Amino acid sequence: PFNFSAGPATLPEDVLQQAAAEMLDWHGSGMGVMEMSHRGKEFISIAQQAEADLREILSIPANYKVLFMQGGAIAENAILPMNLSRGARADYVITGSWSQKSAKEARTYCDVHVAATNEADLHTRMPAYGSWQLSKDAAYVHVCSNETIHGVEMHELPDLKALGSDAPLVIDCSSHLASRPLDWSRVAVAYGGAQKNIGPSGLTLVIVREDLLGRALPITPSAFDYQTVAKNDSMYNTPPTYAWYIAGLVFQWVKRQTEGALTGLAAVEARNIAKAALLYDYIDGSGFYENRVAVDCRSRMNVPFFLKNETLNDAFLADAKEAGLLQLKGHKSVGGMRASVYNAMPLAGVQALVDFMKHFARTHG
Ligand code: PLP
Repeated sequence: PFNFSAGPATLPEDVLQQAAAEMLDWHGSGMGVMEMSHRGKEFISIAQQAEADLREILSIPANYKVLFMQGGAIAENAILPMNLSRGARADYVITGSWSQKSAKEARTYCDVHVAATNEADLHTRMPAYGSWQLSKDAAYVHVCSNETIHGVEMHELPDLKALGSDAPLVIDCSSHLASRPLDWSRVAVAYGGAQKNIGPSGLTLVIVREDLLGRALPITPSAFDYQTVAKNDSMYNTPPTYAWYIAGLVFQWVKRQTEGALTGLAAVEARNIAKAALLYDYIDGSGFYENRVAVDCRSRMNVPFFLKNETLNDAFLADAKEAGLLQLKGHKSVGGMRASVYNAMPLAGVQALVDFMKHFARTHG
């Protein structure tokens, strides 16, 4: 079977096999990873290796801290303004449900200014840069670089300087983190829940430029103060040790991927491009299905699509499940179908989906 869930989502099979093999006894330590103290040398070696591998994969500059936190991206919607806003103004760009949620939560902690929105386009394209009204004095600018529900992705991150803002750019990249390289010259903070491309739920990654530490509001819980977390190597409180370990196995998986002459993240990205092209090209040419997102804003990770005859939705889902194609139902706010094709989804999985969709269209058209 192939699992198209938006998250928690499919993970590489060899990673899960390795985790299963190490479940009771990690590297002859006599302990499973779940049973280890986070202060012991075994877990510290796992933690450090995972961070080093993530830094290598994403080419994270030395002046950024990598924090392994908890609470998911929804908690970050509050933790971020507590840490960065100083209670002043912050700009938010609305591109879909997730950025909308971020802006709403931040209102408790700072003066949220909606700098741009694509609501009039029903979240089917990025708001044109010409429409962005950035503040002169924003503490930061927040965007969601891949809207998981609406299937809209920023293929290039905004260059805030070119748009007239000196504010640091913050991205919620939950659903495409580690699917492509990140341009650190444009990003000051990147955060995301792990449960898509990285590992199990319970772990939140926050990658933050060092000069932004130490600004937290006095009300910030100490376990959520980026400076405290950074100073303690993400071990101020007990971190989600098992999720951190699995994330480390996934980072090693990313590093060993090859695609022609490409290796590591470049190979993973090339495969993601090929998978998305296969699916979108079929949908566009089918006459039976449609994707409503502007072509240059389509997500490589989350592909919402509709049957033109929506009375067939239930039959489509039932037959897909029968064919081993799981969790294709669209988010309730959008309807239709959604195929999430994260890093661990092989091209063969997308091919199986396209073959099924063709067959369904032939027999129901
Ligand atoms: N932001 C984005 C882009 C997401 O895709 C999700 C979850 O799907 C969230 C935020 C919320 O994440 P969590 O449930 O881990 O808090």
